[in-house]
Amino acid sequence: MCRTFADRLNRVEQRIASACEKAGRPRDSVRLLAVSKTKPPEAVREAAACGLRLFGENKVQEAQSKIPMCPAGLEWHLIGHLQSNKAKVAAHYFQMVHSVDSLKLLQALESHAGTALPVLLQVNVSGEAAKFGMKPEEVAGVIEAANQMQKIEVHGLMTIPPFSPDPEKTRVHFSALRKLRDQLQEETGTPLPELSMGMSHDLEVAIEEGSTWVRIGTDLFGARG
Ligand SMILES: *Cc1c(COP(=O)(O)O)cnc(C)c1O
Repeated sequence: MCRTFADRLNRVEQRIASACEKAGRPRDSVRLLAVSKTKPPEAVREAAACGLRLFGENKVQEAQSKIPMCPAGLEWHLIGHLQSNKAKVAAHYFQMVHSVDSLKLLQALESHAGTALPVLLQVNVSGEAAKFGMKPEEVAGVIEAANQMQKIEVHGLMTIPPFSPDPEKTRVHFSALRKLRDQLQEETGTPLPELSMGMSHDLEVAIEEGSTWVRIGTDLFGARG
C-alpha cells in the first residue's frame, strides 16, 4: 500500500519540483501540505511512513477524533472555515490555521491559544459570493489588530479560488493574492512571507504565482468519496 502512496507522492513531488524550476524558485521555498480530510488515520500513517510531516484538515470535529490516532510528531494545519466557538479546540489540535476569515475569529484564537499561533488570513480575492474569506479591503485592519496581540502571528495570506477545470483561468486569482500581499507589506510594515494557494489540479500555476504552501488532497490520497 505504501508503494501506491509513494508513487503518488513521487508524482506530486516531481510536479512541484518542475514548477519551481520553471519559476526560477528553489524547491524548498514551497511546502507540501498533505490534505488528509475524509481519509482514515491509516492513510496518514502511510503518508508519514513515506516521510510527510505536514498535514491539513478542514473540520475541527474530524481532526479531534483523527489526530490522536495518528503518529506523534506530525504538524497539523487547519484549512477550513472555523467558527469562533470552536477556536479553543482548534488552538489545541492545530499548530497553524490557514483559514482565519474574520477579526472575531482572530480574537477568539488569541484568547485560547496556549503559545504563539501562526495564522494566515483567508482572502476572497475573486469576490465570489459563496466563498469564505475577508474582503481584500478588510485585511489591513485585521493585520493592524493582530500586531497588538500576544500570541497570534500573521505569517501571510491564503485563498481558495473558484473552481475551474482550466488552471490557467485561476492564475488571475493567485496573482491577485500575491499583489495584495505585496501591497499589505508596504502599507502595514508587517512581513507576510507565506502564500497558501494551489491544490491538486492547479499547483503549478500557484507556484509560478508565488505560492509557499500547496494544499494537496486528491493527488496524494486519491479521490474523496
Ligand atoms: C480539500 C481541500 C484542499 C485539497 O484539494 P484537492 O483538490 O483534493 O487537492 C485544499 N485546500 C482546501 C481548503 C481544501 O478544503
